[in-house]
Amino acid sequence: MNRINKVLIANRGEIAIRIIRACQEVGIQTVAIYSKEDVGSLHRQKADESYLIGESLSPTDAYLDIEGIISLAKAKHVDAIHPGYGFLSENETFARRCQEEGIIFVGPELKHLDMFGNKTRARETALAAGLRVVPGSEGKISSLDEVLAFGEEHGYPLIIKAVSGGGGKGMRIVQASEDVPEAYERARSEALTSFGNDELYIERYITNPKHIEVQILGDTHGNIIHLYERDCSIQRRHQKVVEVAPSFSLSDDMRQQLAGAAIQLMEYAEYVNAGTVEFLVSGDEFFFIEVNPRIQVEHTITELITGVDLVKAQLLIADGQNLFGEIISINSQEEITTNGYAIQCRITTEDPQNNFAPDSGTIIGYHSPGGAGVRLDAGDAYGGAVITPYYDSLLVKISTYATTKDGTIDKMRRALDEISIVGLKTNIRFLQNIIQHPTFIVGDYSTTFIDDNQELFD
Ligand code: ADP
Repeated sequence: MNRINKVLIANRGEIAIRIIRACQEVGIQTVAIYSKEDVGSLHRQKADESYLIGESLSPTDAYLDIEGIISLAKAKHVDAIHPGYGFLSENETFARRCQEEGIIFVGPELKHLDMFGNKTRARETALAAGLRVVPGSEGKISSLDEVLAFGEEHGYPLIIKAVSGGGGKGMRIVQASEDVPEAYERARSEALTSFGNDELYIERYITNPKHIEVQILGDTHGNIIHLYERDCSIQRRHQKVVEVAPSFSLSDDMRQQLAGAAIQLMEYAEYVNAGTVEFLVSGDEFFFIEVNPRIQVEHTITELITGVDLVKAQLLIADGQNLFGEIISINSQEEITTNGYAIQCRITTEDPQNNFAPDSGTIIGYHSPGGAGVRLDAGDAYGGAVITPYYDSLLVKISTYATTKDGTIDKMRRALDEISIVGLKTNIRFLQNIIQHPTFIVGDYSTTFIDDNQELFD
């Protein structure tokens, strides 16, 4: 490494552990932070050093304590901070504070967080780069009447979305004009509670689309590459549940078009570090929806089919290294190929029988799957672990890989049969139902797959 010898990981759970592992492989010292509620968390033990943060703050605010994290980083002589996903990962103020203090932010530059941090700005950037966005309002809307006028002009259904949205929250589909007032109010209040910002915008609601996203890496020398797509159409309440790479059902022509559009946008933005360009695909058409300027939960499946370690790449990019030759042992985009198929299932401590309410308590028994082609990225998954109700309910990500699609599905079925978590409710059965469903196996599903197949909840 040139500039980075010690990294603070401003996150918790599986992604903190994932980042610590990448640091260990490249010989970087690691500093973990933990809230008082996470005193028993595994990510603490995995790091070289770990420190309590935000003692007087709420469980979530502890990981959002910008000044607390910055002063700790300085006191411990940290060279860089990796924010993971969620929490401060897209926070421009945090990235700016890092820059002011001479700490490397392992992520894109400030201008990229500004371009892509809110969804209306992202749409403007995509339009300026020549991409097609979902037809929608020009920027944010400021009244109910604007929604009604949009509906009048473009027809229904439409979707009201939060400008600062994420995690599928603050979104309301509207089928007809009489439903606008309630949907508008609900979207606004959900946006305010979830994001502290009640600004909304509108898009035409695309019926039965696929959610396809393209993984991008950019270095500080101006090189930008794509690492093909992930199909994230298996969603519940607009949140991803199972992801596959490459998509089982995309034509090669569409695959090339999406990758081309993603590169076009990120070259226009002069993007640096890891990012994802998300699209909705409907028949022969595709529309840009947003960019996630950070590592994503589902990055594992891209790693499995391309052989590129994305988190390691993030660290090396932040260190100033060149994508070609230094980070990846190839010299051009053309040399990046995919091999086989990968699936990721997100195991959460939620109860499908009770509307996916998060469960908390002690894991009494835990048995992890293993064997060829099975990769685990886990947080506090072990017998005796205490799962608190304060954080995201993602416990373990299982990713499987094989050279054929059916082989990968077989491995996932076997891994889901093998894993055992006793003491807490989980969504394992729900995941088993999904990956054995004939429509999933064919791959020809859209974002409404879960809603359209109620038997998955049995
Ligand atoms: P978030 O940032 O909250 O994840 P996104 O804009 O990425 O929000 O959208 C999440 C999901 O919501 C999409 O994958 C898709 O299933 C659905 N969605 C969003 N916008 C539209 C739209 N205009 N038409 C149809 N579905 C949409």
